[in-house]
Amino acid sequence: MKILVINCGSSSLKYQLIDMTDESVIAKGLCERIGIDGQVTCKTADGRKHAYDVDLPTHTEAFYEVKKSLIEGACKVIDSLDEIAAVGHRVVQGGALFHESCLVTDEVISGIESLIELAPLHNMAHLQGIHGCTEVFGKDFPQVVVFDNAFHSTMPPKAYMFALPYKYYEEHKVRKYGFHGTSHRYVSNRLSEILGESLEGKKVIVCHLGNGSSLTAIQDGKVIDTSMGLTPLDGFIMGSRCGAVDPSAITYIQDLEKLTTGQMDALLNKKSGLLGISGVSSDFRDVLKAKHDGNERAALAIDMFFYQITKVLGSYVAAMNGVDYICFTAGIGENSSLTRSEVCKNLTYLGVEIDEEANSTIAEEIKISTENSKVGVYVIPTNEELMIARDTMALISK
Ligand code: AMP
Repeated sequence: MKILVINCGSSSLKYQLIDMTDESVIAKGLCERIGIDGQVTCKTADGRKHAYDVDLPTHTEAFYEVKKSLIEGACKVIDSLDEIAAVGHRVVQGGALFHESCLVTDEVISGIESLIELAPLHNMAHLQGIHGCTEVFGKDFPQVVVFDNAFHSTMPPKAYMFALPYKYYEEHKVRKYGFHGTSHRYVSNRLSEILGESLEGKKVIVCHLGNGSSLTAIQDGKVIDTSMGLTPLDGFIMGSRCGAVDPSAITYIQDLEKLTTGQMDALLNKKSGLLGISGVSSDFRDVLKAKHDGNERAALAIDMFFYQITKVLGSYVAAMNGVDYICFTAGIGENSSLTRSEVCKNLTYLGVEIDEEANSTIAEEIKISTENSKVGVYVIPTNEELMIARDTMALISK
């Protein structure tokens, strides 16, 4: 059975065709600059590549290109769309409405529409993707939606409420929802597989450290807290997002610079974080290199990154009254041994002991704590697309 996984952004569409018999990726690609001009790149597992420019006014035209690239031309991998059993879409915001993945129906589409207010750019793009898919693949083609925050829906109110006037929660659903849930779910499921037992009775912290970063506290296999909030801006310093700051700093700067809400939003999301502090880049590797070249602001940005992760991690240890396992994932978590050892340096009070040889080994998936460590520390590469494909297959097989 083959599943097509789709991730639509406001001007992009990423796809992966996954063969579920061995969970391998057969082909993947990216349609970019939708609504501007249009670029398509596709790659196959056997090493074929094709990139071309084509007009992509909307996500529907992008879907036509996905279809074309799969069934004809340089990157052809299947004879017809009949070989694809279903499409699984990533949806960023499921609000408090969706607690699990589900088949696309008119009711589900209305539900996603009703959440546009909470994630205007993302949910609009996902809906355009769903409509484009219906138009190109046909109305009866099964589609599934997998929500980025569904895994976090087990958080208790004391974790997800903001101490703002209650009416904003009641009338406008302002609360913490969390993001990267599909990644946190994949990594915690994989941990359970590695351990060979369920996470019942276990306390786990997953550190998803990438361009966007979040930490999640998981007790008995269920999320009890996560660092991102109403939007992916909350938490700790990220590539170009600020993470948690005193809210008064925001109103102060907005007044000072006479910024509109949109300009302030861009400042917090696109000009802050590692980029804002270092002035160099939002990319961790660039900032680290600048630090090694003697750039003091880059050094400060890196110090803040390690410090803030350790602080949030410590708060989750407190929230769960302990931790049994810590997992690192995503671009920085999977590849930066320095980040892992710096974050774990201040966890000796928990009995965390890192095996630096294992930590510096380049491996896909590895335990990096010593046999004597009281906490098991793992590097587990994330795979959100596979999680989406698995959910999709499970739903259509029902
Ligand atoms: P992601 O958003 O998960 O794709 O992660 C992107 C981030 O991972 C960027 O900040 C990269 O600089 C960082 N990254 C990727 N590879 C490495 C590496 N080998 N060492 C350190 N950071 C890396």
